[in-house]
Amino acid sequence: MPHLGGLSIDDVCSDDSGGGVIIDAAVAAAEGVCPGCGTASARVHSRYRRRLADAALGGRSVMLRLRVRRFFCDNIGCAARTFVEQVTGLTVKWARRTSPTTRVLTAIALALAGRAAARLAAQLAVPASRSTLLRLLGKMPDPVATTLTRIGVDDFAFRRGHTYGTVIVDIDNHRPVDVLADRTRDTLADWLRTHPGVELVCRDRAGAYAEAVRTAAPDAIQVADRWHLWHNLVEAVEKTVIAERAALHKPEPNELEPAANDVAAVLDSRPAEPAVRPVEGRLATRTRQRWTAVHDLLAAGRSISAIARQLRLQRKTVRRFARAATVEELLDRARPRRDSLLDPYKPYLQERFTAGGVDAVQLTREITDFGYRGSLKSVRTYLHPLRAGRVAPQPVPIAPTVRQVTGWLTRHPDRLTEDDDVQLKQVLARSDTLTVTHRQVREFAEMLTQRRGEHLDAWMRDVDARGAAPLRSFTKGLRTDLYAVAAGLTLPYSSGPVEGAVTRIKALKRQMYGRAGFSLLRKRILSPA
Ligand SMILES: [Zn+2]
Repeated sequence: MPHLGGLSIDDVCSDDSGGGVIIDAAVAAAEGVCPGCGTASARVHSRYRRRLADAALGGRSVMLRLRVRRFFCDNIGCAARTFVEQVTGLTVKWARRTSPTTRVLTAIALALAGRAAARLAAQLAVPASRSTLLRLLGKMPDPVATTLTRIGVDDFAFRRGHTYGTVIVDIDNHRPVDVLADRTRDTLADWLRTHPGVELVCRDRAGAYAEAVRTAAPDAIQVADRWHLWHNLVEAVEKTVIAERAALHKPEPNELEPAANDVAAVLDSRPAEPAVRPVEGRLATRTRQRWTAVHDLLAAGRSISAIARQLRLQRKTVRRFARAATVEELLDRARPRRDSLLDPYKPYLQERFTAGGVDAVQLTREITDFGYRGSLKSVRTYLHPLRAGRVAPQPVPIAPTVRQVTGWLTRHPDRLTEDDDVQLKQVLARSDTLTVTHRQVREFAEMLTQRRGEHLDAWMRDVDARGAAPLRSFTKGLRTDLYAVAAGLTLPYSSGPVEGAVTRIKALKRQMYGRAGFSLLRKRILSPA
């Protein structure tokens, strides 16, 4: 039988089940080399068989049945008295798989982890359990440490709102270089002390990371990360929009009502995504307060009538609140439904129908050409009252949501659709505060994208003098970290790569959530993608 890669093949046969392949082989070398001292030995102590799983052959699993020898080590200076021979590149001590197969399984575990990895391994006829795959990950060595000069630091949630870790990224090559088990000042400071030479740290605004750098790498330049700056500004804008919510509603309900014979106008005048009014603001707050009051009084043994008198509510209202087991039930009901699929086409249907001579089937066909995805039945139901001579209610134009308006104010103007732009202008026309905010956001964006840190001071003074309250507190925050903010608006470095790493961590975490501990997640984060 032939020799192959250090093996002398004796026999190839099917296993008992007939589904797998068994290769009987022996180590071809005449003598063994002691791994402890490198001395060759031909004096055999004993022989035995090892079973090593190997990569599949023709889709069938392969088991290598290898005869190995245990040799005496005759080097008196060596601590080992005996040793077992290994085939370079194929076997290692204790392993139950050939080394190439272990590498394949490790790669699968890195890419997928958990159940999906086990399924793929089974498909490749090198079955391995989930726990085996996780163990292989754990055995991977860490990437070789290099001297880091510029790093980005950010936190990420192991479990949302529960525990956080810290990822450190090499700003220059965008690779994650370490993962820390928490996001405290001391942990990062310790890391910085063991990694001297860091000259620049991109980080979130202020807080624990800033302190860690100040104490453990005082000479390093701190750069407030642009992504976080922008994110905080967007939050301030959202608060401003919430405060200006009244301006989002259109004063005359017919203002946007299109000419019914102009289909394009009908379709264009609708918000791109049918708005769901957020459950927030006064109505939701009042609902919560009432629900709590009603249930407190019920718990105190009051009758519905007594509660109605005390809270000055109608009895049927009290009953409705009493019936709701949670306040969310009431809020859900209070939330307007999503527009029906038909809503955008109603003015058109009405116009066409009253002009006469067309039926529901024909009209459904027509609006389907315009993008309607609903049923014929909905069209019939809508037309029914028209048929009976009654006028169907016009769909009420829906005010844009806080979220939409925040998006319009903070998105690059080039990325607004014409429709968004029209709606934004209408909102701005109703609110001086939002008009000023819009200008200030644009100016900040310009500083940010064109590295005009020198304009920061003038911008902050403008916000202090004319800006909305949430933006004023945003600038107050900037002032507490001014040096790093100015660096963030001036230097080319940014934690963009860190955000990329955090995004990847989220994906990795989803795949192995609950299955693997910190050290395994760390391995996957640090492994080359
Ligand atoms: Zn030896």
